[in-house]
Amino acid sequence: MPEDMQTSGEVETFAFQAEIAQLMSLIINTFYSNKEIFLRELISNSSDALDKIRYESLTDPSKLDSGKELYIKIVPNKSEGTLTLIDTGIGMTKADLVNNLGTIAKSGTKAFMEALQAGADISMIGQFGVGFYSCYLVADRVTVHSKHNDDEQYVWESAAGGSFTIRSDTGEPLGRGTKIVLHIKEDLSEYLEESKIKEIVKKHSQFIGYPIKLMVEKEREKELSDDEAEEEKKEEAEDDKPKIEDVGEDEDEDSKDKKKKKKTIKEKYTEDEELNKTKPIWTRNADDITQEEYGDFYKSLTNDWEDHLAVKHFSVEGQLEFRALLFIPRRAPFDLFENKKRKNNIKLYVRRVFIMDNCEDLIPEYLNFVKGVVDSEDLPLNISREMLQQNKILKVIRKNLVKKCLELFEELAEDNENYKKYYEQFSKNLKLGIHEDTQNRSKLADLLRYHTSASGDESCSFKEYVSRMKENQKHIYYITGENRDQVANSSFVERVKKRGYEVVYMTEPIDEYVVQQMREYDGKSLVSVTKEGLELPEDEEEKKKREEDKVKFEGLCKVMKNILDNKVEKVVVSNRLVESPCCIVTAQYGWSANMERIMKAQALRDTSTMGYMAAKKHLEINPDHSIVETLRQKADADKNDKAVKDLVILLYETALLSSGFALDEPQVHASRIYRMIKLGLGIDEDEPIQVEEASAGDVPPLEGDTDDASRMEEVD
Ligand code: ADP
Repeated sequence: MPEDMQTSGEVETFAFQAEIAQLMSLIINTFYSNKEIFLRELISNSSDALDKIRYESLTDPSKLDSGKELYIKIVPNKSEGTLTLIDTGIGMTKADLVNNLGTIAKSGTKAFMEALQAGADISMIGQFGVGFYSCYLVADRVTVHSKHNDDEQYVWESAAGGSFTIRSDTGEPLGRGTKIVLHIKEDLSEYLEESKIKEIVKKHSQFIGYPIKLMVEKEREKELSDDEAEEEKKEEAEDDKPKIEDVGEDEDEDSKDKKKKKKTIKEKYTEDEELNKTKPIWTRNADDITQEEYGDFYKSLTNDWEDHLAVKHFSVEGQLEFRALLFIPRRAPFDLFENKKRKNNIKLYVRRVFIMDNCEDLIPEYLNFVKGVVDSEDLPLNISREMLQQNKILKVIRKNLVKKCLELFEELAEDNENYKKYYEQFSKNLKLGIHEDTQNRSKLADLLRYHTSASGDESCSFKEYVSRMKENQKHIYYITGENRDQVANSSFVERVKKRGYEVVYMTEPIDEYVVQQMREYDGKSLVSVTKEGLELPEDEEEKKKREEDKVKFEGLCKVMKNILDNKVEKVVVSNRLVESPCCIVTAQYGWSANMERIMKAQALRDTSTMGYMAAKKHLEINPDHSIVETLRQKADADKNDKAVKDLVILLYETALLSSGFALDEPQVHASRIYRMIKLGLGIDEDEPIQVEEASAGDVPPLEGDTDDASRMEEVD
């Protein structure tokens, strides 16, 4: 037992986890007028808690022995200045109260505060999983009474200020569930008004799947017998309440009747009024539902503060029957690709009864951003997660959901503007789909958009690319890299572009995986312009020239390979270069330069993988380039020309850089360059150098400057 835990009956004090304390003071101190959202957040928590007990009760009905009726109740009390929310949900054990309401850090706490600083709105709080604390928008003190089936009843209380208390609850027993008492700030008594509460519930919570009851005050007339009336009169004299009125003082009545006439009294009483009587929206006919209603439902389903981007409402009938409502949000959530949490946002209902909300088998992971509900007529009510895994009905539902999602994306793609918004947020998911969903790969490929060397500022689809292909063009050319500028200016793209072929620019890390999986589109293979074996269609003359070049530069290639040794796999004559003297390409099935960059960036701790997976490099030389031609002449004249050796290494390192690789030892490369600069400036090598980056000892000697050729090896 931790030290701060004391025996029951006593009050235990706990400190809020630091970030939560920070969040609370932010909520309390930020000027923010849209405070009403607190009610939506608390109702949403209650609804979740009700979902949980309902789910448990499906497999173990005795869980409802502590109370069968599932509801949420709101009780305003003006004289006490409190607003109370009661739910008969799962409740919280003592440990839950301590953990969930204050001591366990959540990733959303920090993320939400950062979002606020970046201009987000407090009403977004629910998206970050810290909605409970929004009650401090309106309350200066909050008391949470809770009873879980597995524990006694406890009370949590906090007036913020960094700490909360827990004690065992000796007050009115709840049976099961949670009662939250908000001590409303003095200037915010409007939140105790019936009309205000009704308005807020209608606005934010009308689609909650459990009855939300508001305790309303009513007045009725009550007849009093003569004796009672006398009593009342006396009492009235003592304290002028309640009011007694004579009704029906009809002067025409005769005196006998008048004697019998009953006195009536206006009596106050309370009654529960259900605020959300709407039928589940997905059961209604789509034609009768307005976009606004869909929007309201979407918001209450997801805690989003904005409307959805697109919606699909459909039913499937026949051997199997279900209805579904699928939404695409406008934004990706802050934790969309957070690995651990595999979560989807489709709520599963069986014949209108909520079953569970993250059924993994309902929709594939790449579609985890799609939100909505599915209501099956065929699944058994008491189905468990384990049973669902092998369930055939569920498999059919899943297949249909994927199909409908793809249809929805295709519909979206017809509207450029909207599709752009969608694509910005969720292109990663589509690409993940290419990786995961073999069956729908070609459909997904149709949904991809890329910039190309010919698409200008707009991105385009593979379909458009293919429609623009030249007659003799067999392949789809692409390049992967860090960003559009870099790939557009890359030497690899030079000749392909010059020859009039279009190159697809792929600049997201995940694109490397996309091309690995896709391999082809519409029967045309995807060919990387940075990998070996790039063959551009060529005519007879070009073919002849290439053969001649091969022979002509054979000697130089050998010399270069000898110098570079195992830094490169081979040195060959290129047909992809125009203005650069050489470039580094990678083996067809190995990593590209971009992939090597990505893997290095992913902090590949295991350096051994790096060794065998690292890009296999081929150096390609441009036979039409004057540098290469001069080098050839020099090398042909003297195979062991030491100047050639140094220049080859420089050329290689420069090609590495311009081909998108990182240098292992940039400082060595830098010193080589300085030497060249000095040579160019005619500075005597013996003069002391003032190079800060590399101490004199690190500077490699230029070949030919020294007789000790082996020193070169040491440096590299
Ligand atoms: P979220 O609900 O998004 O997880 P909150 O800050 O709103 O974040 O709530 C924190 C946790 O407290 C919930 O996850 C839940 O476990 C618990 N909780 C809050 N309200 C209730 C309630 N009415 N009944 C049961 N548990 C609740």
